[in-house]
Amino acid sequence: MSFEERQILVVGAGPSGLIVAKEAARRGMDVLVVEEDSEIGVPCHCAGLLSLKGLERLNISTDGPYVQNMIQGAFFYSPSGLSFKVERQSPVACVVDRSIFDKHLASQAIRLGAEIKLNNRVLGIRLEKNYVVVKSENEILKASMIIDAEGVSSRIVKASGLKPMNPSHLLPGFQMDLYGVDVNPNYVEVHVGSKVAPGFFAWVIPLSSNSARVGLACRKANPKELLRRFVERRFKGEEYKLLTSRSGIIVTSGPIEKTFVNRLLIVGDAAGQVKPTTGGGVILGGLCGTIAGKIAAEAVNLRKFDENFLRLYEESWRRELGREFKYMLWARRILNALSDHMIDKGFELIIKEGLHETISYKGDMDFQSSVILELLRRRRILRMLIPLLRL
Ligand SMILES: Cc1cc2nc3c(=O)[nH]c(=O)nc-3n(C[C@H](O)[C@H](O)[C@H](O)COP(=O)(O)OP(=O)(O)OC[C@H]3O[C@@H](n4cnc5c(N)ncnc54)[C@H](O)[C@@H]3O)c2cc1C
Repeated sequence: MSFEERQILVVGAGPSGLIVAKEAARRGMDVLVVEEDSEIGVPCHCAGLLSLKGLERLNISTDGPYVQNMIQGAFFYSPSGLSFKVERQSPVACVVDRSIFDKHLASQAIRLGAEIKLNNRVLGIRLEKNYVVVKSENEILKASMIIDAEGVSSRIVKASGLKPMNPSHLLPGFQMDLYGVDVNPNYVEVHVGSKVAPGFFAWVIPLSSNSARVGLACRKANPKELLRRFVERRFKGEEYKLLTSRSGIIVTSGPIEKTFVNRLLIVGDAAGQVKPTTGGGVILGGLCGTIAGKIAAEAVNLRKFDENFLRLYEESWRRELGREFKYMLWARRILNALSDHMIDKGFELIIKEGLHETISYKGDMDFQSSVILELLRRRRILRMLIPLLRL
């Protein structure tokens, strides 16, 4: 067995880990990313809907080879079939092929000097006084700092004594790419209700005017079976072909309580840094990854690996995103508590008071707190939600 020592070791080559690697490598750090799969971005579990503003915030091009389609709005459908549209004049989001997107991030990290080892699952870590020992399938490594970017099923979080996410907020999801369907090419569809997707929603994300990524996540139900029924209803009478299908876990818990210990930072899905309203984690996980890469590099430069210094990571991401997570988590709890009847009433109110225009105008796909507060300021919405405000 070989035995090498690195300054920063990142576990997991998903977007969060790769963004950490980029940020640390650009600051001259010796960075190694260790990935259990044999190919970056494969298998892919993600729908790939990313806001253009979010990509810009991450300094990632919005017209790279990973972009499959542009989106300028969304149609929302209630349990009884009421609907409203939110939209902008120009695109607000793109649909990316995550396997190409992740490879693009990996090549940027490598160009900046990071190294990536595939087929190398990390089995465990041990914190020593002057370094961390990392045992993987192929070797034993030593590093000054570890970044855990293992995704939703992180083992390092538990092993390091941190409190993991509550499993009841991890929802099973299932999605398929369909060809030969009739969809509006620039508008996403969101379908809610206990029959469609209890505890979450179903999505139709167009890839073109005749192909779409269709999926759902749910609570206490079988997403594959619910999706089969949804697709049958939504594309009734259409002759379509199933191109791919995949399952995955959607995080709706909000961030874990603490994301650092001596010599270790937790980022991305592993840390619950995902929007509880939509389950989207690439942008916010990436923003936290940017901060983690910067703080890890500072820790190496200053040789400060204790909690007193590393808490700066948590303080920074909470300062930037804490309020967003708080309000989105609150909105998710309220949405989960609404009956189908109340959801329909909510749709009626939104349509009657023209609130979809406020959402269109003020909404930000990633920083949702302002629009959530704006809606709660409306007297009739507040009155409807009063029985739920104990949540
Ligand atoms: C069905 C579905 C649809 C989604 N749609 C969207 C969407 O449209 N937009 C959006 O923003 N988000 C979406 N998400 C969420 C998004 O996929 C995640 O938030 C994002 O991938 C998190 O990135 P990450 O780098 O933190 O973790 P991951 O992408 O999960 O990457 C973790 C990496 O670590 C590796 N790994 C794990 N354990 C080890 C180990 N012990 N040793 C070595 N390597 C290891 C894994 O193989 C993986 O490559 C969706 C999720 C699902 C399930």
